[in-house]
Amino acid sequence: MTINRYIRSKYIKNRFLNRLYCAIMSRKRILITGAAGFLGSHLCDRFIKEDYHVIGMDNLITGDLRNIEHLFSLEHFEFYNHDVSTFVHVPGKLDYILHFASPASPIDYLKIPIQTLKVGSLGTHHLLGLARAKGARILVASTSEVYGDPTVSPQPEEYWGNVNPVGPRGVYDEAKRFQEAITMAYHTFHGLETRIVRIFNTYGPRMRLNDGRVLPAFIGQALRGEDLTVFGDGSQTRSFCYVDDQVEGIYRLLHSDYPYPVNIGNPDEITIRQFGEEIIKLTGTTQKLVYRDLPVDDPKQRRPDITKARELLGWEARVGRAEGLRITYEYFKSLPDKEIKHKDF
Ligand code: NAD
Ligand code: UDP
Repeated sequence: MTINRYIRSKYIKNRFLNRLYCAIMSRKRILITGAAGFLGSHLCDRFIKEDYHVIGMDNLITGDLRNIEHLFSLEHFEFYNHDVSTFVHVPGKLDYILHFASPASPIDYLKIPIQTLKVGSLGTHHLLGLARAKGARILVASTSEVYGDPTVSPQPEEYWGNVNPVGPRGVYDEAKRFQEAITMAYHTFHGLETRIVRIFNTYGPRMRLNDGRVLPAFIGQALRGEDLTVFGDGSQTRSFCYVDDQVEGIYRLLHSDYPYPVNIGNPDEITIRQFGEEIIKLTGTTQKLVYRDLPVDDPKQRRPDITKARELLGWEARVGRAEGLRITYEYFKSLPDKEIKHKDF
């Protein structure tokens, strides 16, 4: 509990005095786009906990209001159902913006490629304009996908990437590369306070069981008693970061003074085949791994170089895969049976 919160809970019981106290302490106001999604909802929780006034915005294209329904009764949470690829307006002052709206799973952005391009480009442009108008600091959610199918490993921020702009994943990768470019341009030409986080594969409770990403896919298959589908021969690698670690890294980056991109991810790299075996062990399923075609342009390796995050933010991942997977599995197991059985890809 922060000091501010402690004082309020202990000494200021009256609602009016509470408001007055908040006004005097000038509670910071933050806009979080993509608030009903996986990462956005965890960020809303974190900033509420830190005593911010949180304004969530989402058009629910891949998100779910259930991720934030526990916040609706709070005085310091507001929600706007809005598409940020159209003009964005928020009344009142704003101190910070976190732009997290965007489909993030390959099957989502393959299904809605134009919306994906628009939210990364037009959406980012609108939010940069809003930040400028309000004098707010903005942090945009970029991705390890800007490195495409990387030819160096681990990937440092200086690596320019190996992206196929016209391949199926190009709609996401190029939108995010444009997002970084326009964010830097606003920083350089308008002096806007900007931050760019390059997020590596992050997992945890509130991922959609049917979003097609490998972790929910494998756990969903195990829970339904199906074989686990490994794409390709399973020798491609990923490095999985637990959501609480990711949120901590984003929080620290927002409050740093570093405007260039920073990788946030857990460098513990694993092949997808080994990952499937870990899920089989964790869930106790008697099913096996089966092999399917590798999607076009699927990156062969991915592992963050987190030297910058360590040096600039004093950050590194704390939650190991065994613990993170256990918590996430408990979450998926607790979902209603009907949701576990539902497979609408
Ligand atoms: P998610 O799909 O759970 O959340 C994205 C949210 O954005 C959804 O609630 C969706 O409805 C909303 N949204 C999409 N387009 C919108 C629009 N035009 N207007 C308003 N809302 C819109 O995905 P996530 O995993 O939480 O990812 C959040 C952000 O983090 C994305 O920008 C993604 O690119 C980035 N990211 C995530 C990961 C990861 O591993 N989870 C990795 C790299 C980058
Ligand atoms: N993958 C898989 N089986 C699945 C879903 C994904 O083998 O059912 C693989 C996918 O081909 C990729 C890796 O798992 O190599 C991670 O995929 P995901 O969609 O989670 O994220 P990406 O890192 O590719 O964006």
